[in-house]
Formats: sequence, C-alpha cells, structure tokens
Amino acid sequence: MVEHIPSFEKLVNELNKLPSIGPKTAQRLGYHILRSPQNYVSNLREALQQVAQRVRQCSKCFCYTEEPDLCHYCTDSSRDQHQICIVEDPEDIAPIDASRAFRGIYHVLHGTIAPLEGRGPNDIKVRELIERIDMGLNNPDLKINEVILALDADLEGDTTVLYLTKALQNKDTLISRIAHGVPIGGDIDYIDKRTLGRALENRVSL
Ligand SMILES: [Zn+2]
Repeated sequence: MVEHIPSFEKLVNELNKLPSIGPKTAQRLGYHILRSPQNYVSNLREALQQVAQRVRQCSKCFCYTEEPDLCHYCTDSSRDQHQICIVEDPEDIAPIDASRAFRGIYHVLHGTIAPLEGRGPNDIKVRELIERIDMGLNNPDLKINEVILALDADLEGDTTVLYLTKALQNKDTLISRIAHGVPIGGDIDYIDKRTLGRALENRVSL
C-alpha cells in the first residue's frame, strides 16, 4: 500500500533511518502520524525544526546546548572547574550528573578511537581536549587537576583510554578511569567472567 502513496512512502523511509526502527515499526509510526490530529503534526514539525536550528555544540566542552556560546555546565560557577570528566557522547552526561558523585565540568569526545572502523584521534575531539588542558598549564583559573575518563568498557573505550593516558602524560594532571565491576544488587554467580575480572582488578581496600 505504501508504494502507491508517495508522500507516505517518503515519511516511512525517513522514519526507517532512525536507530532501532525497522521497516515495520516505521510503517506503524507512519500510520500513527497519519491518523494524528493536525496540531500534533504541527507540533512535531516545529520541534524537529527548532532542534535542528537552535541546538549546537558548546564551544568549550562540545555537549549540546541552546546557549549562544557556552553551555550551562561550563558557566555554572558552583561546579569544580578544575576537574574534568571525559565522555564519549553528549547523552552520557545526564546519567553521570544524576549520580551526584561528580560536580566538575565535562568534555565530549563525540566518539571513540576505533582503528578497525578507520576512526583515529583526529576524528574525535582529542586535540580540543589537549588544548583545554594545555591552556590551564599557564593559567591557574583554567588549571585541570584531574581528568576522569568515563568511557565504555569495550575495545574502543579501552583503546581511547590508552591513547589519552599517553597523550596527557606530563600535563601535571591526575588521570583516572571510572571503575567497572559488580552492579549494585548484582549477584556474583550471575556476573560474566570479564566483568568479575575487572571488579577484582578495580578492588578497593577497606
Ligand atoms: Zn560546555
């Protein structure tokens, strides 16, 4: 049926490009939009337009923002401006911030180093990170005392951690990586070997 309605086919094709949306789900969403009242469709169109036009990357940490220059994390004077948490994607910031265990500032890499996919340090925001840290070497207000690497515990995350640890050596800053291990409420006999191995490596003395 979709083939005979070109505008509907176009909508379904666009929805199908979204992550985790297969052809069937795209068609279902398309029909849902088709049946929706006109004001819902207008609101959806307006939201899509606004997000594309207004949201940009913060010029300092590269998270998403609607502010003209710096995001609200970078301008929040109650945050420790000398402690920086490195994340892969902008969406990683919200859960880390919600944990309330970190009250510093962020730096978004927009990806990881993945040689198998042809992605090197120049393809992500590594140079910008090194520049930020270098700027603090001669300016106490911008001095970064600690870099916390909050990257995934997979091959790309490990490769990126290795690269950054080397690149940030001799920058007069502590470098740490978030611990990986047993989740709260987790049962040791249900945890996979690699996670348990990491938990043992990252053990803390009591
Ligand atoms: Zn920012």
